[in-house]
Amino acid sequence: MKRWVARAIGAPGATSFARFERIVTGAEARRPWAAALDDASVSAEAREAVSAMAGVVASPRLLAVLRTAASRAVGQEPFDEQLLAVCALLSGHAVEMDTGEGKTLTGALAAAAFALAGRRVHVLSVNDYLAERDAEWMRPLFELLDISVAWIGQRTDTDARRRAYRADVVYAPVSEVGYDVLRDRFVTAVSDRVEPGLDVALVDEADAVMIDEAMSPLVLAGASPEPPEEFTLADAIVRDLDADAHYAIDADRVTVSLTDAGLDQLEQRLGGINLYDTAHTATLTKVNLALHAHVLVHRDVDYLVVDDAITLINSARGRLAHQQRWPDGLHAAVEAKEGLPISSPGLVLDTLTVHDLLRSYATLTGMSGTVVAVADELIEFFELRSGRVERRRPNRRVDRVPRVFVDDRERKAAVVAEVVERHRTGQPVLVGTQSVRESERYAAVLAAAGVDAQVLNARNDASEAAVIARAGTFGAVTISTQMSGRGTDIRLGGPDEADHHRVAATGGLAVLQVGRYPSARLDAQLRGRSGRQGDPGVTQTYVSTDDELVRAHAPRHHLEKIRRRGSRLDQTTLRFIVDHAQRAAESARRTRHRDTWDFSRAIARQRSTVLAARAEVLAGDRAGVELSGRIPNELDALASASSPEAVHRLLREVTLWTLDEQWCDHLARLTEVRDGIHLQALAGVNPRDEFHRIALREFHGFFTAAYDRAAEIVRAVSIDQVGEGIAALGLRRPSATWTYMTSDNPLGSPIDRAARTAGTWVRSRLYRIE
Ligand code: ADP
Repeated sequence: MKRWVARAIGAPGATSFARFERIVTGAEARRPWAAALDDASVSAEAREAVSAMAGVVASPRLLAVLRTAASRAVGQEPFDEQLLAVCALLSGHAVEMDTGEGKTLTGALAAAAFALAGRRVHVLSVNDYLAERDAEWMRPLFELLDISVAWIGQRTDTDARRRAYRADVVYAPVSEVGYDVLRDRFVTAVSDRVEPGLDVALVDEADAVMIDEAMSPLVLAGASPEPPEEFTLADAIVRDLDADAHYAIDADRVTVSLTDAGLDQLEQRLGGINLYDTAHTATLTKVNLALHAHVLVHRDVDYLVVDDAITLINSARGRLAHQQRWPDGLHAAVEAKEGLPISSPGLVLDTLTVHDLLRSYATLTGMSGTVVAVADELIEFFELRSGRVERRRPNRRVDRVPRVFVDDRERKAAVVAEVVERHRTGQPVLVGTQSVRESERYAAVLAAAGVDAQVLNARNDASEAAVIARAGTFGAVTISTQMSGRGTDIRLGGPDEADHHRVAATGGLAVLQVGRYPSARLDAQLRGRSGRQGDPGVTQTYVSTDDELVRAHAPRHHLEKIRRRGSRLDQTTLRFIVDHAQRAAESARRTRHRDTWDFSRAIARQRSTVLAARAEVLAGDRAGVELSGRIPNELDALASASSPEAVHRLLREVTLWTLDEQWCDHLARLTEVRDGIHLQALAGVNPRDEFHRIALREFHGFFTAAYDRAAEIVRAVSIDQVGEGIAALGLRRPSATWTYMTSDNPLGSPIDRAARTAGTWVRSRLYRIE
């Protein structure tokens, strides 16, 4: 517990919530009064308590009523710690509460208070399963308070979404809200919007969403007339190559490249051409992508094949990444490898990062087991202050000092021995690994040692939740990847805690972590599964200096030290090296976030200018004004021969079309520039300045061009075409749109690699230019 306190106070940017304690004490004093209210008065009192305040600030009266409402409606009487967290959320803070402390109820209470004050609240979850589960679980609470509640998932249709967004409180995955925002930007009639209304956001798993996934772009795409990429030849060529002779995989397994012999073989196979001739860049790119698809991307580890399509697995988190695609060429190459029809990535109509989406909310707050560690980043990126609410019961979990090995085999043997030993006494064990692949390896060696382990294999959120819920039963051995975003509680003795006593007597849940995650927060999320609500528990980490984290992030002189002295290094030195590597990984991620945000901010600013103009065209008469300045005579002629409404509709539709089309073009150009900009960094130009300069230049004259183009189209319209709609003019809007998220680039981050070896990087970049 001391350690936590120290971290909360010591962390830069973290706030103390001590000032709210008085309000919670006041609520306690009003408990008898609130308990005596009948159901109808509970709702009325709650409303009055809120309207008596300026803004949404917690008061003893409000908290007392909320507490009564929760105990009546969901059978759980909120603890003081939960009420303290409600105060912090209402005053606009992100709140850290350990696993098992009851964030779901806390979030619902805060959402209810915001809703009572007339605000519209989105409780943002990480997946459909949690959105539905939490909304249904908390529904009776909202109903008692006369607050409407709804949830949205991937399969919710447009009308249901529109209805859901009218509710006071909506539970939804953050990506679904983002897709709705994107789709609303392309409607041609006001009534087609679903209108998510970004007022208050309460983000569950706040650090995972706001920090780790903040820069993943959500993409809206439309059917493109271009035929999909042809990969058959590249795929066939790669099948004939031999490992070692024809290609080499680098040590950290993020790149594979053709050897000279491989290149020779390829050139011969293609009829003696010179592949490095610019005329063959496209072919070389495809061969490299096919090679990557065959050598570095593995079925059932990186992706599944479901219904003749590729479904990505987020390998670090061990979860299915629904509706995600890899960058275009790679996706097609993997489809070719599996003999699937090549899907079209579509024309990218617009993109939105989770970061930009969240910043659009008027009020942003969130919760997670680990926010204080990123307190200063939350301030920097979201102007959001954060703090910690202490556990209700003291922590009895014992965190053992990590053990560091210099060899993975020895480490594995130590982990297996420990699992076997603990399993013999019936103690439940949770083994946390770095990837799905590693999970399977551990399951295999444990099986060989006679231990039957359950592996969380990412196939289904609901069944996975059921496995996690059983991870605390007597004798259970569960193997998982990162636990962040898996909102299920591990109770000792099973979900109903029937066997709690017997399991607690074995020492509670033992968490054995294999390797360290790229951030200390993720480590804490895993450890936090043990010792919930004052239960006993133990955690132990087993690191190897072979681990990806160490190899990729330890400075050269540390790696050299390991190479020379290896197992003769003492544990303190080894732990220092590992800690250092983890901090380097965290700081690299932060820099990447800052850089990417900088790029996306420039695009987002231009996008909002365009959207403001678009809104005036859609709902006002901006099109009429702009076009009558350009082609007054033609418009008069059209208007005199048909109805003014028909002409107005025509102008609106044409102008929306030119604005949208021009935005897609502009976005494509900026994306291209951004992807290539780091090449310029090698030439000594500051990439950010350069990007901003180009973005401004490209945007210059955007509106004039769009309106000129609209005027030109309308000028050619004949009178009998006026009422026929824009399709008759040969203007097509995408007939179907779909959404996806671009996954982390599995080709490795080119920027990171550039820092290490500029040479290889330039080559790998060239391979990707199509
Ligand atoms: P977290 O998301 O913080 O890990 P959950 O919201 O899943 O925690 O809650 C953990 C468990 O504690 C749940 O099973 C929930 O039913 C229970 N719980 C939460 N608040 C209370 C309460 N005030 N009284 C009794 N049980 C509670």
